[in-house]
Amino acid sequence: MNVIVCRARYFTIRRIWSCPTCKTRRRMVFHDEAWYGTTMTCCHCGDSWQDGELYPRPNQRDWRKEAAAKATAEWNAAGPYDRAAHRAWLAAETGADL
Ligand SMILES: [Zn+2]
Repeated sequence: MNVIVCRARYFTIRRIWSCPTCKTRRRMVFHDEAWYGTTMTCCHCGDSWQDGELYPRPNQRDWRKEAAAKATAEWNAAGPYDRAAHRAWLAAETGADL
């Protein structure tokens, strides 16, 4: 019998972080992806960065509002950072035995 385990492709971490666009500390949602590095999104301006590189901004009205709302929802859902859960996720994702 095959058991298929579904899990998130990334681990969500919430942090207060300095936003390069807002030029101040903001609530930021981090997505840690085992093989792709970390993406962060500002809950205020909606800009995203992958490993420090600014994501292309969508050419569409109200994208900032939508991106910020989505990031805020993820921030709220993420809860306080749980190092043990993060390590367990990373170990499962990479097959490493930490
Ligand atoms: Zn920002």
